This record gives sequence, C-alpha cells and structure tokens, in this order.
Amino acid sequence: MLNNFVRVRFAPSPTGPLHLGGVRTALYNYLFAKKHGGTFILRIEDTDQKRFIPNSESYIIETLKWCKIEPDEGVGYGGDYFPYYQSKRHNIYHYYIDKLLKNGDAYYAFDTDSDLNKKRKEYNDRGLTFSYNYQNRMSLKNSLNMTEKELYDQLKHSSYVVRFKVKPGEKFNIYDLIHGNIIVNTDYLDDKILLKSDGIATYHLANTIDDHLMKITHVLRGEEWLSSMSFHILLYKSFGWIPPNFAHLPLILRKDGKGKISKRNVDNKISDFPIFPIQWKVPNTKTIIPGYRELGYFPEAFVNMLAFLGWNPGTKNEIFSLQELINSFSLEKVTKSSAYFDIKKANWFNKKYLNKNKEKIFLALLKELNKRSLKYKKNFIWKIIDMIIDRINFIHEIWEHSFYFFISPSYYDINFFKKICNEKSLLQLERLKILLTNISPFTYKNLKYFFFKKQETNKNKYEVMQLLRFSLVGILKGIDVFIIIEILGKKESKQRIDNLISKIKEKIRTFFLKKEHKNIDLH
Ligand code: GLU
Repeated sequence: MLNNFVRVRFAPSPTGPLHLGGVRTALYNYLFAKKHGGTFILRIEDTDQKRFIPNSESYIIETLKWCKIEPDEGVGYGGDYFPYYQSKRHNIYHYYIDKLLKNGDAYYAFDTDSDLNKKRKEYNDRGLTFSYNYQNRMSLKNSLNMTEKELYDQLKHSSYVVRFKVKPGEKFNIYDLIHGNIIVNTDYLDDKILLKSDGIATYHLANTIDDHLMKITHVLRGEEWLSSMSFHILLYKSFGWIPPNFAHLPLILRKDGKGKISKRNVDNKISDFPIFPIQWKVPNTKTIIPGYRELGYFPEAFVNMLAFLGWNPGTKNEIFSLQELINSFSLEKVTKSSAYFDIKKANWFNKKYLNKNKEKIFLALLKELNKRSLKYKKNFIWKIIDMIIDRINFIHEIWEHSFYFFISPSYYDINFFKKICNEKSLLQLERLKILLTNISPFTYKNLKYFFFKKQETNKNKYEVMQLLRFSLVGILKGIDVFIIIEILGKKESKQRIDNLISKIKEKIRTFFLKKEHKNIDLH
C-alpha cells in the first residue's frame, strides 16, 4: 500500500497541442495521484527551443481544466519545487553536469556534425550502424583522448556537447510496473548527449534531475520512452540517487490499423476523427482544428472514454464518473498491449452521458424554438426530448431529430421525392387523407389498427407508410410514425399530406411545361 507521499508529474513539451495520448497520460497521472492521496504536478519541458510552439502551454492548462483533472502543483499552480519550466532551470542542470564531468561519468565531445555524418557513412558503407559508444569513443574527438592543454584550447575555441560515459560490460535488471523486468546490457547503450552545443540540457538530463529534485515517486509516461528508461536509470545511479518507479503506458493505435495516433495525423489530414481535446488554432494561419469539446463531447464522457484506452477495472461496467475512476484505478490493470481507439466507442460514451445532461438538451431545443419564435409548453418539449434522446449522441443533434414535431418539413429529401413524383403517389396520399379523416378516436392504438388491420390486403402497405412518413417529416427518418401522427394531431397531419400533394403536383406541372417547350424548340 502506498502512502500519501505519492508525487507524479505530467511533463509535456510545449511543441503543439496535446493529442489523445497526451491527455490520457495526464489522466492516468491524475487518477493515480488522487487514488493515493498524492500530488499531481505539471512541469513544462521546454528545453527544445527549436520545436517550441506558442500557445501550447495555455492549451495544455485549458485542456486539463476542461477535463477537470487539474494539477495540484506546477506551472500555473505554484509549489515548493519551482521553477517548473525547464527553460528556467539551466543553472541547476549545469551544476549537475559539472558533477558528472568531475566524477568521470561524462565527457566533452567536439565532433562536428560533418565529422559524425562522415562516420555514419563509413559505417553504413560497411553495412553497420554508427553509434557513439565505448567501442569507438577513444578514436573520436573528445576529452577522453586529449591532454589538459588540448582540452583547454578546444573548450575555448570550439563548440562542444557533453556526453554520458556508459560503462560497458554491466548487466542489470530494471523493473517497469507495467512491462515487468527488463534486462539491460550496457554494451548496447550509446553515450547519449546530456548538454547540447547551445549549452542547453537535453531531455534525458533535465528530466532525470527534475524528477529527482521534485521528489517524483512514480513516472507514468508513454511507451515511446520505455527505451530511454535504462539510460535514465544509469543517470540516477551515477548521481547516487534512488530512481522513481516507472510505468510506461501502452500506445494508442487507430482501430483501422493505420498506426499510431499522433499530431501528424492531423497535419497530414489523414485523421477522420478528432484527436485534439479542445480546439487548436494553428499559429500564423487562420486554421482552427476543432477538438472534442467543440464537437459536443461532454468532458466526463471524454475522460471516461480515455480512461478505458489502456486500462479497465475488470468488471462489465464501463460508465465511471471521475471519482469512480479514481477509486478503481490501479496500474496493475493497465494493459501492456496497445489500446485501440474507435470513434464509435467515443460516441457511445457520449450518448451514455446524455441522460445526465438533459437540462442542457432542453435549453438547446428551447434555443432552436426561440430562434423560430415558436412557443411550446415545457411539458411538451420534455416529452419530445424523452422520445428522441435514444436517437442522438450529442446535444446539438436534438433539433435535426425532433424538428418535425414543431414545424412542418421545409425540405424534402430530393432522391425520394423524385421517386414519388407521380400520379400513383398522389392517389395514395389522397387515400391517406381520407383514412385519417375517418379515424376516431385519433389515438396511437387506433391509428395502428386502421393502418395495419384494415389494410391487410393492401400489397403496397409498406410504400404507403413510407409516403406517410415522408409527408410528415420530409425524410425517411424519425420515430414510430404512429406516434408522430398522434402527437401532430389529425389537422396538422392532413395539412402536411396536402403540402406534399401540392409539391408533387407543382413538380409534375413544371416537368410537363418544360417538356412542351422542348418539343416546340425541336420544331
Ligand atoms: N517531455 C516529454 C514528452 O513530452 C515527457 C516524457 C516524460 O514524461 O518523461 O513526451
């Protein structure tokens, strides 16, 4: 059992908007912290200035707020371990780099890009891959093979990086809470750069130092960092620090087999589903990419859906409030295998939250009615909502699924209309009108009885029903047609049939007129 010293961090780089995977990482950190009464920290890892994109930070904070998974500490929230921006921690990193240089775990390297490219080519030509490591470091341009004087001169006149000196021949076990034991053989590790030529610490160095200084107990991050874990552990060892626990979260793949979900999906316009939580305004352009928020997803549904991308509580129930997620969350139930994202499932989750947001549906419908200066009793509006709610996934869909209870169709589906633009349909519609006139009492039960029982012998029954629905709704959609007729009432239903009759007649007339003209033209 963990005590309340759990400290976890979400450490995004401000290189653009978060995508689904990033938010899921934040969510798991949040859930884990809250479950153990711990602290959830937001650290901005902005060491890579070349990839910096303005607004990323405010985007991240706004996203966490929308999801209601706000940090307890860090950028925008304060705390004792500030600064929480890596760009403001240069001095700290330099202090620790010096330590590594002094104890011989790091060294200066002066190889230029072209030196290294040459090496890479040489190796490539021999069918090998070049890596800067114990096998070749002594033949490269670095402080390991320089006199003190040479080093002094080089430091004065050339640009350099600082590399970690991996000790070869060591084998040890590392443990990931999700992936289990991993055997590390240092012979296969390269001497990674710790300090770049611009004097800025690399991710590996900054991340390790910060996690230690900020007293992070558990590192929960994406699986793409699993391969860096062994190197990070080596760094902890050389500083003499105890590493935190690590848990690398499964990748999120597209259900259609088109690979990983990434920001590139949007850039390359291959994403047929949203991947951003909230809208992203692409800098220096007018492009706005809508997120789940703008598309009408409830934050609760979005969070619930995300939680299940790589974790499940082992029960049948999938609908969990944030508090329920906190209570049930555990790293043991996070899957090792990749999770598959399916937009249909996301919509399903949203649908499940409609009932909890009925008041909002009511307001949305009221807005549509007000826009058209239509007045209806509250009870009636609620009745319609109750009938329609099962047919929608989003609040904004309410009007397109219920308009026909409030207004007669102002538009008819063109394809079906073309099909029924004939004398036969006119006859059938006239008959329908007569049938409706004679039905009394005008109730659902009675309507159904008349249509089915009395027309048992009618071979075109299905066709007639379609025609009836079409005249009432304008399309071939909607709820049980008898409920629609009962609610609209006899007068309105007949009126709508009349409207369609007029429309068909008009069309037939203009068709013949055109034909006549054509004939005249031909002569
Ligand atoms: N800055 C890294 C990223 O954006 C964080 C990796 C980590 O959590 O250690 O992916």
